[in-house]
Amino acid sequence: MSETQSQLEGQPEQLVKFGSPMINLLGLDRTGLETYFESIGEKKFRASQVMKWIHQLGIVDFQMMNNLSKNLRNQLEQTSCVENIEVAEDLISKDGTRKWLLRLPDGNHIEAVFIPEKERGTLCVSSQVGCALDCSFCSTGRQGFNRNLTTAEIISQVWLASKLLEDEKKPGRKITNVVMMGMGEPLLNFDNVVSAVRIMMDDFAYGLSKRRVTVSTAGVVPAMDRLGDIIDMRLAVSLHAANDELRDALVPVNKKYPLKELMAACRRFIDKQNSRSRITFEYVLLDGVNDKPEHARELITLLKDIPTLMNLIPFNPFENSGYRTSSNNAVSRFSNILHDAGMTTVVRKTRGEDIDAACGQLAGKIEDKSRRHRRFAEPRFGME
Ligand code: SAH
Repeated sequence: MSETQSQLEGQPEQLVKFGSPMINLLGLDRTGLETYFESIGEKKFRASQVMKWIHQLGIVDFQMMNNLSKNLRNQLEQTSCVENIEVAEDLISKDGTRKWLLRLPDGNHIEAVFIPEKERGTLCVSSQVGCALDCSFCSTGRQGFNRNLTTAEIISQVWLASKLLEDEKKPGRKITNVVMMGMGEPLLNFDNVVSAVRIMMDDFAYGLSKRRVTVSTAGVVPAMDRLGDIIDMRLAVSLHAANDELRDALVPVNKKYPLKELMAACRRFIDKQNSRSRITFEYVLLDGVNDKPEHARELITLLKDIPTLMNLIPFNPFENSGYRTSSNNAVSRFSNILHDAGMTTVVRKTRGEDIDAACGQLAGKIEDKSRRHRRFAEPRFGME
């Protein structure tokens, strides 16, 4: 092991370039880069210079970084790299949504999606190859789980999307928000996700404000507490049911962290935030399963003392899902009940359906280690 590597021991695994002992600077947040530069006898401020080159200017060739000495450029070239993952497929939906299938060095594939709206452009980013949580209505979950993404692999999605959208040279195609709502459970890849979020928020990188970066969780309670302790940002919680019996069936992690604990964790998270924000709750509406008026009323009781932004998501179907999308009537009846109770409620529009880019449709191509996909054909909860 080289001296630099031993000094960086304890840093996340992404210090190592994919498949070689070189250090991939793409995956280092400011603290990581400062440690790196100090370890090679350089000043800390090199970190912000290099961050700017990589993330703001999209430059990956050290020789072009002309505010670094020639010596340093050569040294960086020998010991490190800025290496992105590869774009395997690039699809644009008729509604303007753009989806990338991205190939990882180990042959797995993940997906990232850009969703343009009137006043903002949201990039939906993956945090894991597959997902271990097995939510019954989620296509990613059906694919099984392979591994966590490194910080470099997470941030590479933002780097690539920024560059490819800029290449379009069209107005309204800029990333203003990032949501960790792609493949995977971000809070089960805690350290790498936090480093990536720090890069997204860093003024020398993507400079997104804390209100514009959202981590979405199915409810991994201890990690929600850790997140609240160290970072001020938006949290979304995938709720989908307001009683434990139903939630156990839809979101199995509920058996470990039931609703009482989850709600307490939400309250603690809000208390820790500087700006007294709200929690975004996501609720997929499944026909006949969780979309009845009594479910809405139960939800109101559950969330009565939590500042809430409710995101209702019409179920996006996929093959053999075993579920049906709620009717428009059921969706508006549900949403009206919440609205009348004073809950801020948004029905999320389905975007990018024609390119399988909608919520829960991201599947990538995963070499499943959990062998879960073999159970694909089994009847699921809610099936008739
Ligand atoms: N594991 C995290 C991040 C995934 S976010 C989480 O659960 O929050 C993806 C969001 O899309 C989650 O709210 C998820 O429940 C929702 N979703 C999954 N499958 C869906 C489907 N088929 N239709 C609509 N939304 C779905």
